[in-house]
Amino acid sequence: MIELTLEENLIASKIKKIKYESGSHSPSLFTISEQIPELTIKVDACFLSNPYATELFIKYLKEDLIETNKLRDVLEFYPSQNNIIAGFVSDVINVDKKNIFVGNGAVEIIQAVMQRFVKRKAVINIPTFSSYYEFANDDTEVVYYQLEKENNYEICVEKYLSFIKDHNPDSIIIINPNNPNGGYIPYKDLFHIVNELKEINNIIIDESFIHFAYENMDYSLISATDLFKNFKNVIVIKSMSKDFGIAGVRSGYAVMDEAKVLELLKNGYLWNSSGLSEYFFNLYRRRDFHEKYELVRKKYIKNTSDFIHKLGNISNIKVYPSKANFALIELIDGSTSADFVSKMLIKYGIYTRTGSDKIGLTGEFIRIAARTEEENQIILDALNDLF
Ligand SMILES: *Cc1c(COP(=O)(O)O)cnc(C)c1O
Repeated sequence: MIELTLEENLIASKIKKIKYESGSHSPSLFTISEQIPELTIKVDACFLSNPYATELFIKYLKEDLIETNKLRDVLEFYPSQNNIIAGFVSDVINVDKKNIFVGNGAVEIIQAVMQRFVKRKAVINIPTFSSYYEFANDDTEVVYYQLEKENNYEICVEKYLSFIKDHNPDSIIIINPNNPNGGYIPYKDLFHIVNELKEINNIIIDESFIHFAYENMDYSLISATDLFKNFKNVIVIKSMSKDFGIAGVRSGYAVMDEAKVLELLKNGYLWNSSGLSEYFFNLYRRRDFHEKYELVRKKYIKNTSDFIHKLGNISNIKVYPSKANFALIELIDGSTSADFVSKMLIKYGIYTRTGSDKIGLTGEFIRIAARTEEENQIILDALNDLF
């Protein structure tokens, strides 16, 4: 069992205080290092992004904006309006731009959708990404569908469907792959769910981690935007923060019925993307960028699956199946997740996320993100030493 020394306990109480102050999301590594300078942090395994994609973006940014002096334009002038940037996304995902809404990060879209379209009742699967229930209107009834621990927190399609039919919500939310466990619903099951629920006004599918999921060994991309083509009640929400490693740029988009896009645009969001986000979406549609991105996407998936596999061999922990770029881990030796997070940070310089604030998880959980191959090795060495 993990035990902290007296000295570690002192630092641990500072970590807990910072975590408490940051609410349902984790404090950034920057905040932690600033407030606890005695920590030496080596690996950020809390934030869930592809580090190779970040490097690729920076390489392009240097060549396109910094070395050419075009950065000035990006900073000095207004970026394009929402529907213009929607056109860039349209080129890539093959959906008409009138069905695309661009957000200042996916969180802005989640807030808009939860507040404008979700009315009477919403079913949200737990454990989940907290913004969905946090942004629900006060008069929306939120019903939780508990993903079962015995089923590794993966969805059981038939049980889920009968739950939805019993509760008769106007909106449902599915995150695929799910955060915090990485559980994945194969495309044919998702199709079945959507096909059975034509009466629901909003089927919100968040595929912010879809670039890490795969159903074949070529790691081909599978997206719910194809479902939208047949089912107009589908809303696909996509953050670019994780798979492109650019959370600071604040880029996200959603695919939805044209009337819904118009309603949102009527209420603001004219210049909600920054110049840098516009630059990203422009890059996103470039063939040369796309080809290079596919290489780093696949390399990262390969590393990640090796990493998760090796985590599974460590004693005293249970690793839940994941098709995202992180693993949900249960401590089964009596250690608490708070002590685990503190120990990893103080002794090994590795920042991990506790699962103790996630509703719907019972037990002691942490979530560890996959990083570069070298960083993954540092994490594995630390865990092998710890246990
Ligand atoms: C991180 C995350 C988001 C938010 O993404 P931003 O684009 O950075 O706002 C949305 N949905 C899920 C499931 C996430 O994990």
